[in-house]
Amino acid sequence: MRATFMYGAGDVRVEHAPDPTIQLPTDAIVRVVRACVCGSDLHPYNSMAASDTPAPMGHEFLGVVEDIGSDVSAVKKGDFVIATFAFQDNTCVFCQEGFQTACVNGGWYGQPGVGGAQAEAVRVQQANGSLLAVPVDETSELLPSLLTLSDVYLTGYHAAHMGNVSPGKTVTVIGDGAVGLSAVLAAKQMGAEQIILMGRHTARTDLGREFGATDVVAERGEEGIAKVMDLTRGLGSHVVLEAVGHMPAYEQSYGIVRPGGVISRVGVPQYEAAPVGFGSLFGKNVTLNGGPAPVRAYIEQAIPEVLEGRINPGKVFDLTVGLDNTADGYKAMDSRESLKALVKP
Ligand SMILES: [Zn+2]
Repeated sequence: MRATFMYGAGDVRVEHAPDPTIQLPTDAIVRVVRACVCGSDLHPYNSMAASDTPAPMGHEFLGVVEDIGSDVSAVKKGDFVIATFAFQDNTCVFCQEGFQTACVNGGWYGQPGVGGAQAEAVRVQQANGSLLAVPVDETSELLPSLLTLSDVYLTGYHAAHMGNVSPGKTVTVIGDGAVGLSAVLAAKQMGAEQIILMGRHTARTDLGREFGATDVVAERGEEGIAKVMDLTRGLGSHVVLEAVGHMPAYEQSYGIVRPGGVISRVGVPQYEAAPVGFGSLFGKNVTLNGGPAPVRAYIEQAIPEVLEGRINPGKVFDLTVGLDNTADGYKAMDSRESLKALVKP
């Protein structure tokens, strides 16, 4: 089969790779129908040291089940499925507590020996907990929105969930990437009254307004903080959803959060240490949370929202590339020509 590998920063190649096979009774093999490039794929795209042992890429996908191991009962051959971006058994204690990304039998795509989804086929481990059959076929117009349930929309949803977004609250979303815009849509679904989107790419913030943003702040840093404080009558934002992962976004977060508020982060932090003292979190009694989204906790509720047309998070895709041209998708997203690239094997 053909599959996408990263050999180093800026070096994405589509190459022939061995067809994936069932290795454990809990495995399934899925032929990929749609995959995509994630904002988190751009972090190694900018920083990975050149290597002779490349990383298999991609973790968001829809497909058709081609084969199942003897313990797999949740899906069968021929089912059209959504895969969660991390795999999990969905039965262990952490899964039961709603943190499936910490599953004791779980893991991540793109690791050596696991494979990636920007490929013609994927070996899915823990298939019973990681694949959900949906009643559509390869011709459905809903595929882009269903694909966002693999990761991006439900990562935005997780941010809002962890931020305790509820009716009447002011929510500020930092970042106008696909996760940030998804967080806007999720905050709207949860009844937020005021949704301030911090971002400066007009085409993106326009989609943010369509998703429910009431205000857009293009300024960054101190200026951006001042603007948000103005928009909240000097009080600050009850909830800040940080969907970037760089230190300036974290600094903006504690600059605009209201006393007693919550900062919920879903941008993968590109820093190890950050201020938590009196001038950042402590002085305002601020809660800091967030992490890798357990999309499995939210996906069963989200599937009918998409199938019945109540949400259309697939609008974040503005580019489609064939699998052979996956590198073009990375390039376009990295240069911000594309918000999110869909990959069609
Ligand atoms: Zn588990």
